[in-house]
Amino acid sequence: MMPEIKHCSVKECFYNKDNKCHAEAITIGSMSPKCDTYCKGAQHGGPAGQGHVGACHVNDCRWNTDMSCTAEGVDISPHGAEPDCDTFTPR
Ligand code: SF4
Repeated sequence: MMPEIKHCSVKECFYNKDNKCHAEAITIGSMSPKCDTYCKGAQHGGPAGQGHVGACHVNDCRWNTDMSCTAEGVDISPHGAEPDCDTFTPR
């Protein structure tokens, strides 16, 4: 089961509607826990009712197993210019 994105406050992203992510499956990046699916856009919508974490390349997170997220759900928020996974927990 892919973890749900419980909350995302990156309002300027195309996939964000009402502080929820509506991308089918996002990818979190490698060097930092950054949402690589982020796409700045004036329109707000998406292919899914509920967003999920499809893949995560942050190997030093305790929730990461085989480049997949095993957390019950994640939260995303802006950190400077980057949309980051707040559920990231170092091993
Ligand atoms: S909680 Fe950890 S494993 Fe899950 S998406 Fe965030 S950084 Fe990746």
